[in-house]
Amino acid sequence: MKRVILELHDISPWYKKEFLQALNFLEELNLKKISLLVIPNLWNNYSLLEYQCFVNLLRDFGGEIILHGFTHLGKRKLVQMLWTDGEGEFEGLSLEETHKKVKKGKILLENLGFSSKYFVPPAWISNPYLEEVLWSLGFRGVAYRCKLKDLKEKKAFFSPVLTFSNRRWLSPLSIKLNSILKTLYHYKDCLRLAIHMADFRDFKKISLWKEIIFEIKNCRRFISYEELFSQS
Ligand SMILES: [Zn+2]
Repeated sequence: MKRVILELHDISPWYKKEFLQALNFLEELNLKKISLLVIPNLWNNYSLLEYQCFVNLLRDFGGEIILHGFTHLGKRKLVQMLWTDGEGEFEGLSLEETHKKVKKGKILLENLGFSSKYFVPPAWISNPYLEEVLWSLGFRGVAYRCKLKDLKEKKAFFSPVLTFSNRRWLSPLSIKLNSILKTLYHYKDCLRLAIHMADFRDFKKISLWKEIIFEIKNCRRFISYEELFSQS
């Protein structure tokens, strides 16, 4: 059976309300195998260390924790405007800066009793040092928009995401694109569904996610990063 990873993106205390909505959504669809992409200190303002209640929610939920940057804050660059609006946190960083950020994120999670062997850079934007840094800090894998990379085996495999944009002018286009990509990726072995916390502010997106998941449930098995990488 083909596989699918369900990812909840941008988990942070800032999105507590949306996270609670996400929990209801998952319960309604009876989905249990979820990967949580956690931002340790969103915009340098929402450190998990200062939101113990939210951390308890995460702990009680018990999904797989994936490190998703440190602040989710990058420089605004014209060349990346199509993909992101100042969220490419790792774009253009030096080796030292990259190391510092990943390490801070990893340590912060560890201080809360979480650990993650997988990393998804914000906006899926990497830099030439990221993989080397992740490997040196004990990470097994990294995920981009269209592929996953196993840092131990040094191999990448095609695993595209379905996602919606939450930028005003791209949002309607991404809704159309998503249904085209869903058909295009139908035969691909491992698909990823990237549901962003901001999607929960848009009723249309959430009902589309429900449709997509209902359809996918019949032909794909839900799997975690850990399971996928241990099988590779
Ligand atoms: Zn993100």
